[in-house]
This record gives sequence, structure tokens and C-alpha cells, in this order.
Amino acid sequence: MNFHVSHENELLLKTVKSFMEAEMFPHEERVDSTGEVPEELGRQIEAKAKELGLYACNLPEEVGGGGLGYDAMHLIEREYGKTSHALHAWAARPTEILLACEGDQREKYLLPCVTGEKRELFGLTEPEAGSDVMGMKTNARKDGDDWILNGSKHFISGPCMPDFAIVFAATGEDETKRGKRKRVTAFLVDVGTPGFECREGNKCVSYRGYKTYQLSFDDVRLGPGQILGEEGKGLELSGQWLGMGRIWVGACCCGKAERILEMATEWAASRKQFGQPIGRFQATGFRLADGAMNLRAADLMVADAVERAERGAMEDADAAMVKVYCSEMLNRIADDAVQIHGGMGLMEELPIQRLWRDSRLERIWDGTSEIQRHIITRSILRPLGA
Ligand SMILES: Cc1cc2nc3c(=O)[nH]c(=O)nc-3n(C[C@H](O)[C@H](O)[C@H](O)COP(=O)(O)OP(=O)(O)OC[C@H]3O[C@@H](n4cnc5c(N)ncnc54)[C@H](O)[C@@H]3O)c2cc1C
Repeated sequence: MNFHVSHENELLLKTVKSFMEAEMFPHEERVDSTGEVPEELGRQIEAKAKELGLYACNLPEEVGGGGLGYDAMHLIEREYGKTSHALHAWAARPTEILLACEGDQREKYLLPCVTGEKRELFGLTEPEAGSDVMGMKTNARKDGDDWILNGSKHFISGPCMPDFAIVFAATGEDETKRGKRKRVTAFLVDVGTPGFECREGNKCVSYRGYKTYQLSFDDVRLGPGQILGEEGKGLELSGQWLGMGRIWVGACCCGKAERILEMATEWAASRKQFGQPIGRFQATGFRLADGAMNLRAADLMVADAVERAERGAMEDADAAMVKVYCSEMLNRIADDAVQIHGGMGLMEELPIQRLWRDSRLERIWDGTSEIQRHIITRSILRPLGA
């Protein structure tokens, strides 16, 4: 592993830190207590991100993106992890799946997402099909050259009302060695298409202000040009980028854990009981020691996965390990931080309760810890034919 941070990346890190100091941290409390990012603030973050070259920095330069490599994205995601998703999502990193856009789709979907004229949602999860993706009921049937889309999605998240959604739908079944398997196709569906409703859904207590949307499709007619990638290859397409998404969740968790640990350490050093700082009591001090150790291990794991990804050698199980380890490490640190703060840890006056609530989501989205463990188990057992 190479831990050297280049001079260029050091400058980038400095830029991201001052961007967050100025544009995000000051607004965290208000966003959490109101559950809203005012449009004006969101647009301000968006504009600043563009000015600094951070908007769509994950996408290649050929399409107008920042063209940053995984090492640079690692630093950025780790830093963004310190604040709320509701804020840093405005400095968009559009989903790389859009790179599968071809022909007119590039002008209509990919390029406007790079410039910020359009925003997308990634719509996979359904009310009755969360972890069990193959249980999806959303389907599209052929009608001449067109497709007719029916079904619904929920928990589909973004910072603001999107312009279109990438929607995964069953378009038939394939015979495989293990029996029938749904063919899943990704469609680009514009908000405003007759029969497509996109409305705000449930409110989440993690990252308040980051919105979830409920999508419903009632005989939505889509032309052949609305298929993203190949028909029947939707999951393979999303699978190409899913792993990196999980590594970035891991990086965000490390950033947030570092921030929480700093707060807990300051409290442990300054809060006195029985005539001494509570950090001197082993029960408190060891919590800090364990947190520091576990954070170090998590950071190394993310760095290792990033390096594997750079070599094109990252496997699904590598990403799954990072996702479970880092999100669970963060949750232990967040819970310990509340404990170290005592009653004050749960009071709205301090940010600890907010960071603790925010942390909880990381074990659930992008595939729960249990599903990640399935992926890891499969990678261990499959070579033995089990
Ligand atoms: C704020 C938020 C934003 C989100 N954003 C998006 C988005 O933009 N796009 C999108 O498509 N989805 C999104 N999701 C959905 C998210 O990915 C799902 O919530 C997650 O995959 C879990 O699905 P579920 O909630 O239906 O839980 P379920 O699948 O119902 O799982 C419930 C519990 O059962 C366990 N479980 C299920 N199956 C197994 C099994 N085989 N073995 C062991 N345990 C199992 C799970 O691990 C979990 O503990 C978002 C969710 C949230 C909360």
C-alpha cells in the first residue's frame, strides 16, 4: 500500500476542508432541526462546488467532469463524511452508471448532470423488494418498439427534486443453471412523463434534509432510447459501480468517526467528575483507545480497497468488507461518544446526538451489513463449491 499523499492531493484536501468550513458546517444544526436544506443554500453549495472544480469531480474529463482518480476521491469522500449528506450531496458526484449513456442520451442525460443542469436519482429499492432485489415487481413490457413501465420504488434519495430517474425494472426472465432469473433493465425516466409520479417520501432521522422519494409508474410509455445500457443487463451495469459506492461509504464513515472521536476526546479531557477528567477513568479512556485503533484499521482497509480498485483488482467481497467494517466501526464510536458525554450526549444542544443518528444509516443503505456478510461468505465458500 502506498500512503503517500501527493502535493496535488494535499492542495485538494485543503480546498475541500475550507469549502466545508465555509459552506457546510455552519448550516448543519439548522438543516437538522428544520429537516430542510433551503433551496438558496443548496444552490450556493452547488455554485461553490462548480467554482472549485469539485462538482462532478468523479466523472472523466472527456465528458466535462473533474477526472479525479480514486486516490483523490478517497480524500474528498472521507472529508465529506464529516458533515451531513443533506449538505455535501449538493456538491454532486453524479452516478458513474450514466457513463453508459450513448448517442442522444449523452446530450440529454449525462452532460447536463455534469454541468448541474440536471439531477438524477438511482431507483432500485421497492417497498417489497429491498435486500431481495430480485423480488422486484416493477416491470416493463414491450409494446411495438416502446416499453410500458409499471410499479413503484421507495427510499430513492437525493438532495432535491430530480429531473429524471434511473429505474430498474424486470423485462422478462432468463433460464439459468439455477432456474429462472429475472432480466433486469435500467431505464432513464424523465420527471413529467405521463404516468410517472415522483413525490417526497418518508422522512429519515439520519441526515435530516436529505430527501427520499417515492416513485410510481402507471403505464409509463418509454421509447427504445430510454434504455440505459443493454436490455436485460441493468444489474450488471449497476454492479460495475456499486463496489466503489461501498468504498466511498467506508471513507465517509472514517471521516465521521474521526470527527466524533475528536469531540469525545475533548469532552473526556475537560469534563470532571470525582475531581478529575473523566478520560482518566479507564472505562472512558479505553473507549477512546479502542475508537482510535478501530478507526486506524478502518482507514487502512479503505486505503487498501482504493489501491486494489486503482489496479483493477477490487472484488465484490473487498467492497463488502469495507462497507461492514467501517460502518460498524463508526457506529461503535458514535455510541461510545454518547456514553462518554453522559446525558449531554442526547441533548439537542450538542452535535453528538445528530452525528449518532446520522451514523446509523450507514449500516443500512447501499446494502445492509447482513447482505455484505452474505457477499463475503459467498466469496469464501464458492471456490470450495459450497
Ligand atoms: C435514507 C435512505 C436512502 C436510500 N437511498 C436509496 C437510493 O437512492 N436508491 C435505492 O435504490 N435505494 C435506496 N435506499 C434503500 C436501501 O438501499 C435499503 O433500505 C436497503 O438496501 C435495505 O432494504 P430494506 O430497507 O428494504 O430492508 P429489508 O431488505 O427489508 O431488510 C430488513 C432487515 O432484514 C435483513 N435481511 C434481509 N434479507 C436478509 C438475508 N438474506 N439474510 C440476512 N438478513 C437479511 C436486513 O439485513 C435488515 O436487517 C435508501 C434507504 C434509506 C434509508
